[in-house]
Formats: sequence, C-alpha cells, structure tokens
Amino acid sequence: MSASLLQRSLATVWHPCTQMKHHETLPPVPVVAGEGPWLILEGGQRLLDGISSWWVNLFGHCNPRINAALHEQLDRLEHAMLAGFTHPPVVELSERLAALTGGALGHAFYASDGASATEIALKMSVHAWRNQGLPRKDRFLCLENAYHGETVGALAVTDVALFRDAYAPLLRLAETVPSPDARRAAPGESAADVARRAAGALAKKLDAEGERIAAFIIEPLVQGAAGMAMYDPEYLRLARALCDRHQVHLICDEIAVGCGRTGTFFAHEQAGIRPDLLCLSKGISGGYLPLSVVLCRDEIFRAFYDDDVRRGFLHSHSYTGNPLACRAALATLDIFDEDDVLAANRERAALLSGLLAETFSGHAAVRHPRQCGMIAAFDVEGAPADFPRRFFAAALDAGALLRPIGNTVYFMPPYVMNDAELRTLTQAAAQALDRTLAARTAGLNR
Ligand SMILES: *Cc1c(COP(=O)(O)O)cnc(C)c1O
Repeated sequence: MSASLLQRSLATVWHPCTQMKHHETLPPVPVVAGEGPWLILEGGQRLLDGISSWWVNLFGHCNPRINAALHEQLDRLEHAMLAGFTHPPVVELSERLAALTGGALGHAFYASDGASATEIALKMSVHAWRNQGLPRKDRFLCLENAYHGETVGALAVTDVALFRDAYAPLLRLAETVPSPDARRAAPGESAADVARRAAGALAKKLDAEGERIAAFIIEPLVQGAAGMAMYDPEYLRLARALCDRHQVHLICDEIAVGCGRTGTFFAHEQAGIRPDLLCLSKGISGGYLPLSVVLCRDEIFRAFYDDDVRRGFLHSHSYTGNPLACRAALATLDIFDEDDVLAANRERAALLSGLLAETFSGHAAVRHPRQCGMIAAFDVEGAPADFPRRFFAAALDAGALLRPIGNTVYFMPPYVMNDAELRTLTQAAAQALDRTLAARTAGLNR
C-alpha cells in the first residue's frame, strides 16, 4: 500500500480484535479485490483465503450468482423498515429457513450481526418465561470457553478471559459448565465418554439451579473461538434431554457452524435434535452482507402473542431484515440446492483431511489433529506466546490467509477451494509452521 494511504489508514481506522501498536511492525494488508477463494492485494499479489475471511465466506469472493442476485435486488429495493412493513426477500428467506429446520423453528427474527442474534435469543428466552408466568427464570448457562459475541449481553455468555476481563464490571456473568471438548479425554476414554462426563456436570448444575435458568446456550459440535474445540454429538442429545426435564431453553449458536460448515446444513442435526432457539449469521449471507437471524419454536412465539404490547418482543435494529442481505442469503441457499453442496463438501472435506495427514502427520510439534466437515485444526506444542501473529505473518509470506487462535492452527476454507488450491493452502501452512518454529529455536523471538 502506498505509504500515504497506509498512514491515513493507521491514523483513522481502528481495527477489530487488534492491539493497534502491533501494526507498527505488521501493517494491515490492503485488499482491493476478491475472486473465488482469492483475495487480491494492492500491487496484484494474491492471497488464498484459508479462513473464509473470518468464517463468513462460503462460495468465494465476488461469486457471480450472488452478485447477479444482488444487482437485481439493488435495482428493485435496497431497504425498507420491517416494523409494520414486509417485503418478498424477508418472507421467502423466513419460509426457506423454517423448511430447513423441518418446520420445527418456524419464526424468524432478524438482526445484522452474530452478537445481536445472541442478545435476541437471550432476551427472547427470559421474556418468554416471564410471559409464561416464570419470571424467576432469568439466568443463563454456557460452556467453559464459550464464545457467543462481544456486545455486553453476549459477553456475559462468552467465557474468554481476554475478551471479557476489562469489561467484567459491566457484565452479569452467566455460569459455565465443563466443556465436552474431546481433547479432555483421559487415557482409554472416547469422545462420547467425555461428552457423557460433561453432561453429568450439566445435570448436577440443572438439578441445583434449573429453576432459575432460562436458557443454556451452546455452539454445536465445534467451539470455534475456543480454538476449534470439537466434541461428540452425544453431548447435544443429553443436553437436549436435560433442558427438557428442567424447562430450560436450548439455544444453538450456529453462527459459525451453521450453513453446511460441519457437514450437515445445521450442526445440531448430527445429534438428531432441534434447539428451542437457533442463531445464524456469518455464512448465511454467503459472507456478503451483515445479517443474522434467530429462529424459534412456535411455543416461544406464542408466549408473546397477546393484545398487550408489553408482552410483545420489543427488540429492534434499524436494518432488521434488510432486503439486500436477505437476497444474498437467498442466492446462497439457491447454490446449496443447485450444486448439492453438502455432498460436494463431503469430498472437499475428505481431500482436506488427506492433505493435512500427508503434510502434518508425524510432525514433531503437531498435536490433536481434528476435523469436523469443512473445519480442520491441530494444536502446536511449544508455541511461543506470540505464535498467532508470527504464524499469520509467515503464512502471508507463503501466500495464504491463516490466523491461528492461541496455539491452534485451523483451516476453514470457502467451499469453492479446488484441489490444487487446497494443496497450496496446506503447503503454505507447513511452510509457515516450520518458519515460525525455526525462528523460535534460533532464538529470534521478537
Ligand atoms: C462470530 C461468532 C459470534 C459473533 O458474531 P459477530 O457477527 O462477530 O458479532 C457469535 N457466536 C459465534 C459462535 C461466533 O463464531
């Protein structure tokens, strides 16, 4: 990036999830265009997007089909308020999402980002119980290392100290229960054993405090921001049964794991259950526009249906149900249908698994290789504290966007990455890993 533009950027643009001073040594990367799984940088260099631009992109950048749908929508209606009004894209999207849940979650409430979806699900749960005569149910449970967003309400159910500590005085913290993370297996224990053990702790918690608990919120199958912690679907089955027994809503936060990412359209399907409330965002618009939605069961919707305005769900965002974002989501769902994406992803995932095994099995520093559909990860033993930044920089040099969480290297590619590109991605990761670890052993820690 030309020096003056970079200076202007650093003077005015405050980047998310970033200590801005670190940009003194590693400035932000100037992206000027996108094409499929590639980001094209100022100067023409191409970068393979191995993490779907923060887990949002599904079918590549500037996908011709999504672009065409958006151009068409743009010339028709860019936005209209949803309070008191409705429009074709929001109706069609709500119908199609309900159908994807087999009709179980037939009501859709919209917002613009994932954290807002979490806030909506939490508020909806408490208010539904209140309307049903159970006003004491006003607390939440989440898993250890849970991540559900970073607004003040969502942060209360996010168990990541780095994101939370500075704001602790603002929060009414939820209680946590042990994670069913399969890496916690004792010798001889299976992932399902870990799930049953963790569910035992959940059972105890609900026995003791279930009366006060409105909802248990969970990321199904993969705790993303925890470092791609994966667990057995048995946990979801047991949690579903326990929530039913204790009159506790089960909120599935599928903001990261929904939309085919884990192999089924929704991750919770792999447990054969349905949640009471389901949060979607990120991939739902194909990675194009900010959109989130909370789907809920009919009982919850009906708890608000009344003549009294105060019994209604009085939550709103200016851009609720934005037609362009809904249209991007519809174009995304069309691609799922037209291309049989879930079947194609099974092949993609198998290929990625083979490439990672070929590249990293036997690597002295690689621990806990794991995969769930189109999410693959491993942990790096002996990673220095600044490993994520150094690995990220080394991967950039190798032509790939990869951004470890702690000592976990993960891959979450767009579904359109072809065989050669997946191979390039794993090779870039191998190069980045070896460079990062070599710098450590050579004492070049900076
Ligand atoms: C990203 C994410 C969120 C928050 O979404 P934002 O759009 O970043 O607010 C919430 N839950 C999970 C599981 C996520 O991965």
